[in-house]
Amino acid sequence: MRKRTLSGMRPSGKLHLGHYLGALMNWRDLQEGNDCFYFVADWHALTTEYERTEVIGETIDDMVIDWMASGIDPNKSTIFIQSHVPEHAELHLLLSMITPLPWLERNPTYKEQLREQTSRDLHTYGFLGYPVLQAADILMYDASFVPVGIDQVPHLELTREIARRFNFLYREVFTIPEAYLTETPKIMGTDNRKMSKTYGNAILLSDTAEEVWTKVKPMVTDPARVRRADPGNPEICNVFSYHRIFSDPETIEKVNVGCRTAGIGCIECKRWMYDRMEKVLAPIRERRKEIVESGVSVRGLLGEGTRRAREVAVRKMNEVRDAVRI
Ligand code: SF4
Repeated sequence: MRKRTLSGMRPSGKLHLGHYLGALMNWRDLQEGNDCFYFVADWHALTTEYERTEVIGETIDDMVIDWMASGIDPNKSTIFIQSHVPEHAELHLLLSMITPLPWLERNPTYKEQLREQTSRDLHTYGFLGYPVLQAADILMYDASFVPVGIDQVPHLELTREIARRFNFLYREVFTIPEAYLTETPKIMGTDNRKMSKTYGNAILLSDTAEEVWTKVKPMVTDPARVRRADPGNPEICNVFSYHRIFSDPETIEKVNVGCRTAGIGCIECKRWMYDRMEKVLAPIRERRKEIVESGVSVRGLLGEGTRRAREVAVRKMNEVRDAVRI
């Protein structure tokens, strides 16, 4: 039997390799044999971007083109925009009534973000409550499993607790979703910091082959390799961690030995890695080009998906209102 799953992504414009390895590869594979709902999480984006809302709307099309170029097929999956299904807001409100405040305040991501994001004020009601909105997104569709990385398990646990509480207070309305733990290779930016467009260290799925090489060539390596004849340590080199993701075992071993014995140079090593990485990026780039040139209306596809999502959401909200007797 096909199982239902749901996942969302904040609209942040053109996507990079981190998005592909961390989410889209799994989304694409899950489409086979499952009933997948993938949504543009524009209300979630508002929790942090409430002062520059223009970027949210502007970036949706680019993001969804990257989804499709990565293999997300709107004929297999339901793709939609969160804010176009207003039932999410109603369910969020009803769930917020039964969610004890300490459940939200103890959320480790909340505390961490408040500490780290010093450039904007996140002491808002919406930011504290975003896990409740997330619970509404998931529970609305009776998702039986949700793909998550290990660091997101506490969030899903909160959704499960909220669902159990609702089912206990009123009646069994919600499916309790299971975590589907996904192995996602961690990729750093070309400067060895977190990969982010803001840092200018991201390899975008829409970069040309030349642009990718321009970013790979100056990548920081083991600082001990000042000259070609200096042996290095691949374990501390970011290029080597890329090799681990993209290269075959023989190449990885050749780099491991060649680096330690100064048998290879860094540019040569980067070129091998780039060639392997291009085997992943080139087909995505090609599909992206085809999608753009086909003139397909991304908004039209999202509109169709939103219609399908709403059918499910409207039915679910009838059940919810009935259970709450409101
Ligand atoms: S040879 Fe490769 S792994 Fe070694 S330091 Fe240079 S780029 Fe890094």
